[in-house]
Amino acid sequence: MKKLLCMLLIPALCLLSASCTQFLPQGRVNEHNARLTVRFLDVGQGDSILLESGDEFVLIDAGERDYGDEVLAYIESCGADELKYMIATHPHSDHIGGLRTVLDGIDVEHFISAETDCETYTWLKVLRAVDQQKFPSVEARAGSTYSFGNASFTILAPLYDYDEDYNNASIVIKVTCGFISFLLTGDAERESEYDMLEAGENLSADVLKCGHHGSSSSSSDKLLKAVNPSFAVVSCGKGNDYGHPHRETVRKLKALGCPMLRTDEMGTVTAYTDGVTLSFSSEKQDLSAYTYTVGDPKNSPDALNYIGNKNSRVFHFSDCGGVQSMSERNKVTFENRGDAVKAGYTPCAACKP
Ligand SMILES: [Zn+2]
Ligand SMILES: [Zn+2]
Repeated sequence: MKKLLCMLLIPALCLLSASCTQFLPQGRVNEHNARLTVRFLDVGQGDSILLESGDEFVLIDAGERDYGDEVLAYIESCGADELKYMIATHPHSDHIGGLRTVLDGIDVEHFISAETDCETYTWLKVLRAVDQQKFPSVEARAGSTYSFGNASFTILAPLYDYDEDYNNASIVIKVTCGFISFLLTGDAERESEYDMLEAGENLSADVLKCGHHGSSSSSSDKLLKAVNPSFAVVSCGKGNDYGHPHRETVRKLKALGCPMLRTDEMGTVTAYTDGVTLSFSSEKQDLSAYTYTVGDPKNSPDALNYIGNKNSRVFHFSDCGGVQSMSERNKVTFENRGDAVKAGYTPCAACKP
């Protein structure tokens, strides 16, 4: 009995500490103590993300058609016998091609897609498979929140009708578990990003799945500033024809000190969180160094100051290469961007603070 009490007390204490503002580093989270697991599947040049919390699963996209069997087998290998939600972000084949095979192979409770008049063969086949299974098909509405296990997700976009601009019509969701959140943007590009910003949506997240496979048409400066991610994930194929991720995106994330986790280099990338701490693993690379705890002073956004050069009157993010080569006596620290601009400093062209 005593032992049982202890087992009950430990999670209760964890919850208690999570409700306070001070957090202690809690070590790594893995498949045993995670309350939310987010798997970015390696489906070559495409997207497929599997969310798991409690015993409930959500699938977002399933890569090209050729990956359908692999995605289905992967979902089953994670112990899922049904999906609470299946989300089709937008009707491009690198996202929805594999969904039909998954629909044929596993029970789905709700199918979520954005309104579209797309009539491609692949998309119509997906819709027909949904119709045949007769489960509710839900039209994505910005502001709607759905829960699964200990986590939930809120639909942030699309906010408008983007006609045949299917990338910008992508469903964007923010997944939250405790204090940790993920922004998953499908192929949304600058237009949708600006619309979300203009609508005043809270886009801040610990992990950003970069829009459109890391294309420079997504991950705008304004979006990155609003999201302020600690980690970025790019889902793309090795040596893909589009040059994804684009150099601009790589550079911007580097300037933010935000590690980029790429499925083309790492294979499937998995994030585990207990709601306070975030850890990663991947198929091909050891990601044990990437552990992040909310409230840990070293993760505080204030840790990233703006450093100006008294001689050149240029200011940088504190982790820009330009700061490393700057002599100590030329350095001046600004607490925020506004102060640097007010003092007459201009932003560095490389780190774009
Ligand atoms: Zn697309
Ligand atoms: Zn795509």
